[in-house]
Amino acid sequence: MTTIESNLQGVRQRLERACAAAQRDVRGVTLLAVSKTFGPEDVAEAVAAGQRAFGENYVQEGVEKVLALRGMVSGVALEWHCIGPLQSNKTRLVATHFDWVHSVDRLKIAQRLSEQRPADMGPLQVCLQVNIDGGANKAGVTPDALGELARAVAALPGLRLRGLMSIPEPSDDPAVQRMLFRRVRELFDRLNAEGLAMDTLSMGMSDDLEAAVAEGSTLVRVGRAVFGYRPRKAPPVTSSPAP
Ligand SMILES: *Cc1c(COP(=O)(O)O)cnc(C)c1O
Repeated sequence: MTTIESNLQGVRQRLERACAAAQRDVRGVTLLAVSKTFGPEDVAEAVAAGQRAFGENYVQEGVEKVLALRGMVSGVALEWHCIGPLQSNKTRLVATHFDWVHSVDRLKIAQRLSEQRPADMGPLQVCLQVNIDGGANKAGVTPDALGELARAVAALPGLRLRGLMSIPEPSDDPAVQRMLFRRVRELFDRLNAEGLAMDTLSMGMSDDLEAAVAEGSTLVRVGRAVFGYRPRKAPPVTSSPAP
């Protein structure tokens, strides 16, 4: 068994245990394997082990992998999720190569993605990134501005609003992790009660997926626990400028 295959097995077991503890059906939680900084061969290895959904942070790198994998695995449909910070000049690449975007936090970006989405690809699946703990330099819409953005995004023809994504500050305390994830879920529930039909809560990573599942996550984004430590240094996931 390859390392990636056994890592994937380990993560699936963690998800099963977390779902059992939360009395949830494990089929209600999608595992997104975050392949940023890893090569196409690593992704192909994960595909061979049954993984189908992959997350990328850096648009250019992601697009290269999307194209490379087309030539490496044939007859297997992969799903590509853009989970990193989005700049206006990269929206076209995202709209034409990805299936999902988790990191929309501004209407202007959403409008560009909607306009640039090729009609024959169907709508781009979108989550709004929420800045749940108020980190000043963090990406994400504030909870106060979320409702207005969500309603505007839901109305864009090239997009389908699927849910919310959040990256709380890391904490070693599971109670703190859960409290922050719970806040995201409460925002999600409130917006749905107001008429938005969202079905995706993208929260939980290698170190806190159990807490996220306990609070209702439907999609965990897992990098290191699947692929191992990243071979080169990646910018922080929060897109905060270097100090
Ligand atoms: C890198 C990254 C992940 C995965 O993080 P790990 O701690 O390696 O599991 C998840 N979400 C986002 C947005 C990321 O940038």
